Amino acid sequence: MSNKKFILPEEKMTKSWYNIIADLPIPPPPPLHPGTKQPIGPSDLEPLFPMELILQEVSTERYIDIPEPVQDIYRIWRPSPLIRATRLEKALDTPAKIYYKYEGVSPAGSHKPNTAIPQAFYNAQEGIKKLATETGAGQWGSSLAFAGSVFGIEVFVFMVNVSFNQKPYRKAMIETFGAKVVASPSNLTNAGRAILAKHPDSPGSLGIAISEAVEIAAKNPDTKYALGSVLNHVLMHQTVIGNEALLQFEMADDYPDIVIACAGGGSNFAGFAFPFIGEMLRGGKKVKAIALEPTACPTLTKGMYAYDFGDTAMLTPLVKMHTLGSSFIPPSIHAGGLRYHGMAPLVSHLKELDLFEAKAVNQTECFEAGVLFARAEGIIPAPESTHAILGAINEALRCKLEGKSETIAFNLSGHGHLDMQTYSSYFAGSLEDTVYTESDLQESLADLPKI
Ligand SMILES: *Cc1c(COP(=O)(O)O)cnc(C)c1O
Repeated sequence: MSNKKFILPEEKMTKSWYNIIADLPIPPPPPLHPGTKQPIGPSDLEPLFPMELILQEVSTERYIDIPEPVQDIYRIWRPSPLIRATRLEKALDTPAKIYYKYEGVSPAGSHKPNTAIPQAFYNAQEGIKKLATETGAGQWGSSLAFAGSVFGIEVFVFMVNVSFNQKPYRKAMIETFGAKVVASPSNLTNAGRAILAKHPDSPGSLGIAISEAVEIAAKNPDTKYALGSVLNHVLMHQTVIGNEALLQFEMADDYPDIVIACAGGGSNFAGFAFPFIGEMLRGGKKVKAIALEPTACPTLTKGMYAYDFGDTAMLTPLVKMHTLGSSFIPPSIHAGGLRYHGMAPLVSHLKELDLFEAKAVNQTECFEAGVLFARAEGIIPAPESTHAILGAINEALRCKLEGKSETIAFNLSGHGHLDMQTYSSYFAGSLEDTVYTESDLQESLADLPKI
């Protein structure tokens, strides 16, 4: 039995991004200035971002046009396929139908270029020559490196130390696309030096790397900052995934009962699920959305919904989100892209509105699911994406138990071709289910800013 692919013709490619804020019953709480604790205005963000992205960040418009030059680059890999996983269904012997949207076809091998391209475009349009950024597993760094090369922007990447060592090929990929990369914490910034003084062997974290990149951008007038997840405009750029999927389900003459994605900062979950949740909010079909996160960094399931900093050095605005505390350093798991202390404020807000469910899963069971998927479908998933696969498999097995033929769709956020060392560790039996330290979490939560 062969798999069925739903490929959108290029002329039907989605020409706008979707902004779920337009359809929410209650708007999300505003970001606050770290000093005054008052809502920030667009001018507060000007040192870090180009104006067009700031306007998108605060926009309440339902749809925002994708500029022609961005669509042009999107066409290198978009529309991405929606695939009916018939062979996985058979392997599970489930009456459920399973579909996945495959974002691994992009230049970086994940969904991240969907936002890297427009971010570089708007910066270039406003005359910016340099971008500083952070990267966890290296997916974002390589995406922005590519986007920078497309629009003539120099990109400087702070790469979380543990990934810098675990993923040398990601580093090489960042360099191939023309960007510079250093391990974070580094001695290039005050934020990095402060951490190194306390923890010379720090594995680093996204929170630390963000502090370093923000510091560089804030100090250099010719440099702006780019973030690969979490912010409203990033989530909105990613909705190109769900917008396409909606059209592809029309082609398939089907519609998902359940949509699933993994959640690190929340951007691929939002990008895939928000367009479906939006349909439901506007009176369309009901959908159950599920976000999967690692038990080692359980932001949605164990974090507090509170105002917190997006970074470790407390340089960013305060945003209300599910957080483990900005000083929390998650244990080193292999899904580096899911090792962030916070969750996108917009995703967090939807969680508070009960518009989706969150579940935490262990990395070994995720790899087991990833290997099963690879053998059935012929795609080796990124460690992050295995969380979504496990979520889909668990739903399919529930359907089998209940004898229900539900339609399950998940986002396969990326391939794992540069994560094979991790697969080797898994097969060697040396992959462990690292748990965070409860006292560290309590300590970090006790440090939350008082609002
Ligand atoms: C970065 C990344 C993630 C996690 O980031 P989100 O913002 O939560 O989407 C998931 N999967 C892959 C392949 C990634 O590169």
